[in-house]
Amino acid sequence: MNDWQDIAARIAEASGTPFSPKAPQSIGGGCINSAIVLEDGNTRWFVKLNRAALLPMFEAERDGLSAMAETGSIRVPRPLCTGVSGSQAFIAMEYIPLGGRSAAVRAGAELAAMHRAASDRFGWHRDNTIGSTPQPNDRSADWVEFWRRHRLGFQLDLAARNGHRGRLSERGARLMEKLPALIDHAPMPSLLHGDLWGGNIGTAADGAPVIFDPACYYGDREADIAMTELFGGFGAPFYDAYNGAWPLEPGYRTRRTLYNLYHILNHLNLFGGGYRSQAETMIDRLLAEVG
Ligand code: ADP
Repeated sequence: MNDWQDIAARIAEASGTPFSPKAPQSIGGGCINSAIVLEDGNTRWFVKLNRAALLPMFEAERDGLSAMAETGSIRVPRPLCTGVSGSQAFIAMEYIPLGGRSAAVRAGAELAAMHRAASDRFGWHRDNTIGSTPQPNDRSADWVEFWRRHRLGFQLDLAARNGHRGRLSERGARLMEKLPALIDHAPMPSLLHGDLWGGNIGTAADGAPVIFDPACYYGDREADIAMTELFGGFGAPFYDAYNGAWPLEPGYRTRRTLYNLYHILNHLNLFGGGYRSQAETMIDRLLAEVG
């Protein structure tokens, strides 16, 4: 039995339904993993594959998809099972054909509804990954402290270990001291997608927006909205609908830069190059706001 036949047997077991798919179809487009669709004429499953050692990454993705699905707000693929087959870790989830027309208005309103799902603390019950970088989620009642230690500080330390010291480290350390002045509101711990760029949202055939490939945790909902704006934006109808359902608070524009700095530092750590000057420019802009 080869890997995909073994995975098909695991899907049959987990779903409680016989499943004998044809040879898989490969899907392109993922940044991190390879993906196949398994289909037997009755059902279709979307399966992501990677090295066996990365099973915890898929287990965290499974938990994130489940957490978002449980809110009953925006549609996400229902996860079925995770495991290791031969040399590969896998996650199997509901296959949702994407390619419907943009559903920006529904996406904005339904994301706001998801953000109303709250916890009593920031963080999450497990660590996960952002891209392929570890993302620590130790619980904390203090958002500023959480952002300082587990988001900004974590990426700045990683950058230093990757050789990005000097000005970036110095200005970064100063920024860490100024966080209370920059995060001058008291957000509630909302369930976040955590990696909400344009590549992780689509539209199902029935017009429902769908979000996938999450890096979930409970945090300031503005961090999700900020990320939607990082690589091009989701368009005015999305933001109007989000704000119509749950307005963002004054000061968001400044915090947007702070929250997106996390992702730019992550890009620096993953890809190097020009992201360093972009990170420094963002830090300078933030420090200029607080003196
Ligand atoms: P990666 O973790 O490698 O970045 P993604 O989860 O982003 O992979 O998936 C890659 C692509 O596959 C997406 O851009 C999307 O077009 C498609 N896709 C993701 N999940 C599903 C799904 N459940 N059903 C159908 N297509 C999907």
